[in-house]
Amino acid sequence: MSAASTILIVGGELVAGERCASLLADEGYKLAFVAIGPEVPSRAREVRPDVILLEASEGGFDLCAGLRSEPLLSEVPILMAVPADDAKARSRGLAAGADDFVSLPLQADELLPRLRLCARLGVLLRQANERLSALPASGDARLHETLRRRMVELTTLNEISMVITSVLDLSETLGIIAEHAHWLLDAAAASVVLYDRQRGDLWFGAASGEGAEFIRGKRLKMGQGIVNWVIEHGEPLMVADVAQDPRFFDGWDQEMGFTTHSILCVPLRAKGEVTGAIEAVNKAGGPFAEEDLALLTALAGSAAIAIENARLYGRAQQEIAERTRVEEELRRLNRELEAIVAERTRSLQAERDRTQAILEAVGEAVIVTDLEGRIQYLNPAALALTGYSLEEALGQTPPSWQPEALAADAGSQGVAPGTVQVRRIELVSRRKDGSLYDALTTIAPLFDADAGEQPIGYVSVQRDITPIKEAERLKDQFISNVSHELRTPLSVITLVSGNLDLLYDRLSDEQRRKMVRDIRQHAQVLEDLVGDVLELSRVESGRLSMDRGPVDLARLVREEVEEQAPLAQKKAHILRAIADQPLNVTGNEDQLRQVIRNLVNNAIKYTPEGGQITCECALLAEGVAPDLWPGSLDLPAGQWAALRVADTGVGIGAEDVPRVFERFYRVKSQGQVPGTGLGLAIAKELVEAHGGRIALASAVGEGSVFAVYLPWEEE
Ligand code: ADP
Repeated sequence: MSAASTILIVGGELVAGERCASLLADEGYKLAFVAIGPEVPSRAREVRPDVILLEASEGGFDLCAGLRSEPLLSEVPILMAVPADDAKARSRGLAAGADDFVSLPLQADELLPRLRLCARLGVLLRQANERLSALPASGDARLHETLRRRMVELTTLNEISMVITSVLDLSETLGIIAEHAHWLLDAAAASVVLYDRQRGDLWFGAASGEGAEFIRGKRLKMGQGIVNWVIEHGEPLMVADVAQDPRFFDGWDQEMGFTTHSILCVPLRAKGEVTGAIEAVNKAGGPFAEEDLALLTALAGSAAIAIENARLYGRAQQEIAERTRVEEELRRLNRELEAIVAERTRSLQAERDRTQAILEAVGEAVIVTDLEGRIQYLNPAALALTGYSLEEALGQTPPSWQPEALAADAGSQGVAPGTVQVRRIELVSRRKDGSLYDALTTIAPLFDADAGEQPIGYVSVQRDITPIKEAERLKDQFISNVSHELRTPLSVITLVSGNLDLLYDRLSDEQRRKMVRDIRQHAQVLEDLVGDVLELSRVESGRLSMDRGPVDLARLVREEVEEQAPLAQKKAHILRAIADQPLNVTGNEDQLRQVIRNLVNNAIKYTPEGGQITCECALLAEGVAPDLWPGSLDLPAGQWAALRVADTGVGIGAEDVPRVFERFYRVKSQGQVPGTGLGLAIAKELVEAHGGRIALASAVGEGSVFAVYLPWEEE
């Protein structure tokens, strides 16, 4: 049938040319092309097409209306190609007289069945017209009537196709198909049967006419009935008398009170597969004709597409609903997850802020390194201790901070948290300026909660114990000093007193007196030493007498110089006191006297024979020379009682100057001068306890100047 059909393709780029030709290549149509324009009607008259495929464009609608008014062309079915989802174009097309529509871009699945239907309609119309015009004027009225009826049926069929292909609900679609098959063929009943692939049986999706209520929804096993044969063979079947056909299934006839006589059944096809069938039945006396077969076949073409569309639409609707449900669920989960993450982030942040605050506040230096010893973090105490800035320190690997001891222990083997020994060691580290400090260091490996059992670095906490270490060193030195100092006079006393006892009768008075003097002198040394140690322990333990009153510093200077004069004389020193004007301070006389005594005594001790020692006191004046009055620079004139003890002795090197006030500190290079290293420490403590200060200027070989400043009290 289609081999005889001629299709005129009228259009622009969308339908014309190669795409259309390739879609229709295997269908055996005769194709003619013409562009939208004024020559279309003449071309159409020339080609005499069975179908016109027309592209819906501006010119297309007018052209469609024009063709409809041409006498020769008015009945040629026009299939209009409209953009998918363009309802406006469809209604304009209908108004212009289009018979059916296909969607643009053209798809073989849709185009071919529609074209087939239209082509068949066209051929039938043409044949009918030819026959009509061939009849003599007084022709057979019955034939005229038959032809007229056929034409009505064909036009109706065309309309039915349009209706069912626009319905998207499956059961509604099936209902319309059954109804129209029933009505179109004038049958007793018609039904639509679908092959249920999943259940492997046949299902009467819809029925119309007699017994429809009974038939609708029934299921038929595969292998039963005419409809089964049609579906299995994919061919239409017309049975004039079912009583003669063993394929007929008579199971339901009695139940519905219906005697089937003839059956017309055509298969439904989608994408090359048989998906079901349309079955029309008649009671006795009404067999189906060839025209009925042609009509039902044409209906089946549209019906199969409509069913497929409705199924796809239903599935798509289901999928959309499912997807919407899944998306909603995902969104809910996502919201929950976001809330959890936000909460976790908040608590982590709070935790981190807390840790950070603690680290920033602690007095101990905290240093965090990675496994290779590269610094990752220093807290402010660590920056203060080391003298580095954060930028300088990060990423560095100072050798003295290497947690080697721990690394050796923990190594690269996995170490379970909690089983690692935390190491406590004393390290000597170097500051940025090169100076050394003693640090009591606690080192522990650092674990990350997510990194499992492998340590990710080390944290070391350092406490600066330099002063403690220094004190320990000085104490050790003191003990050895004291024992040495004690032993010397003690052994002299023991020896001399032993000799005195042993040789008493053989010694002259003079000799005995000298020996007693020696004993007394060394006993004095012992007493001084013990006195110093006691004094210091008093100062240290805060048991210093707070008994204070007005004291004339000038008087104390004069008296102490007087006191020490015999000692100075022994070394042929010139010892002078410059302290004529009274100089009042508030204080404890004994303690201030001891300060002066210590300074004058030191000057005598550390000045070789024949040197000069000056002990001077005055109200601190404006613009005094700093080498004469060391430490006075920032003190306001006229408010301080100033005292200086200057000698021409051995002097003190620059490296020792800052340290001579430390307890037990003695300048090593000065040789065997007896002493404890406590005198200046005691003097400093006492001066400071009076709200004053003590300072010194000295150089090796050039003598020393010690200066004391105390708050001056006006009389
Ligand atoms: P010491 O008992 O050793 O004299 P001091 O505390 O009085 O102890 O003095 C500490 C150190 O300061 C002394 O050991 C000495 O090296 C140095 N020193 C003190 N006074 C003088 C001075 N006038 N000249 C030189 N060196 C001094």
